[in-house]
Amino acid sequence: MTIRVHVHGALGRMGRTCVEAVQAAEDLSLCGSTDVGDDLAAALAAERADVAIEFTVPEAVEQNVRTMLEARVPVVAGTTGLPRANAEELGRLAKSKGVGFLLAPNFAIGVVLMQRFAREAVRYFKDVEIVELHHDKKLDAPSGTALHTADELAKAAEQPLNQRKVGEVVSVEGARGGVRGSIPIHSIRLPGLLAHQEVIFGGQGQVLTIRHDALDRHAFMPGVLLAVRSIHKHRGLVDSLEALL
Ligand code: NAP
Repeated sequence: MTIRVHVHGALGRMGRTCVEAVQAAEDLSLCGSTDVGDDLAAALAAERADVAIEFTVPEAVEQNVRTMLEARVPVVAGTTGLPRANAEELGRLAKSKGVGFLLAPNFAIGVVLMQRFAREAVRYFKDVEIVELHHDKKLDAPSGTALHTADELAKAAEQPLNQRKVGEVVSVEGARGGVRGSIPIHSIRLPGLLAHQEVIFGGQGQVLTIRHDALDRHAFMPGVLLAVRSIHKHRGLVDSLEALL
């Protein structure tokens, strides 16, 4: 049976790549696509979509997902910047409508593996920082992936992290990054980059760096299509791709 997929944000970089990926998949069909200015609710009502994909902008994602869930359409969303409490509230709406809502900060399967390996490493290293590097059009900082990685590290750590105190003098504001929990995150924005992240662990006499590079937007498509094919098995919020692997 073909899964009917709607793509919202379809004129954007991720949206266009999703449209191509859906059209190329034999078991999926593109039943509609919309972008800013289109009537999403009317399009969904007319199309009988089985799944809606959302890649837009941080300030629009909440309302877009709400519209999709109100229409009882399961959602696969990748737009970053939605606060956790708002995502959870949308998760409750999804549950009340009997559909799933996947919000994944990163659809690259290599990133899910990076987080898995980092959770293993943090059991043995008590000092860790994150560097995330993205293209210069990215609107939010730090990336949703970096925040998620920091939260996962804090949960997996068996000892307090980054406890050394050396009386640091910071002469340029922000030079030590922004701190999530106790983990510094450094955000770099430059043309030429796409989406990259390093989790760097320091120990006596050794440094372990776990790095992932997404080299073009196709890196995200296997994860997006996996989610499109499996979201119907879930109800409410699913907050990472890992839950579907
Ligand atoms: P983009 O190229 O700027 O595309 C965003 C699209 O959404 C544009 O077509 C934009 O239109 C449109 N838009 C703006 N406001 C809207 C609204 N209110 N309703 C509907 N559409 C609206 O950005 P992108 O590179 O595709 O990235 C989109 C999002 O996905 C970002 O948050 C990015 O961080 C995230 N992302 C996530 C992953 C992941 O794996 N989870 C991977 C890559 C990117 P205009 O250009 O006319 O404003």
